[in-house]
Amino acid sequence: MNRKTVALVAHDHKKAELLAWVNAHIDAMRKCDLVATGTTGGLIADDTGLAITRYKSGPLGGDQQIGALIAEGKLDALIFFWDPLNPAPHDPDVKALLRLCSVWNVPVACSSATADLIITSPLFFAEDYLPFKPEY
Ligand code: PGA
Repeated sequence: MNRKTVALVAHDHKKAELLAWVNAHIDAMRKCDLVATGTTGGLIADDTGLAITRYKSGPLGGDQQIGALIAEGKLDALIFFWDPLNPAPHDPDVKALLRLCSVWNVPVACSSATADLIITSPLFFAEDYLPFKPEY
């Protein structure tokens, strides 16, 4: 099985939803190398016991650290439950993170429905599938 690196990020009002999503897909999560922004990662690690590499909290630069992984070709998917109903102090970082996923053709889910489809896709863990990597 092809191990994948997956980033988990949720804004405060979406953290419970992401935690429920991780628990619903716990077997798949165990097959991934997980990274997360600080608070999200701590919450999920405490609840599930999963090993998670935690970066800084999102507003303190954690989103940008995950963006750096994308730019370096080290991230296979971003599960990013951002909050569409409340403003965030680091809104430019949110936009930058989503932009980099488009720049580098990295699958990104902003809702549990899309996240379900990514993590259950046979392509996601397939040895012989590599998403197109743009050359600039
Ligand atoms: P947090 O950051 O996991 O540290 O709360 C998430 C975010 O706001 O991007």
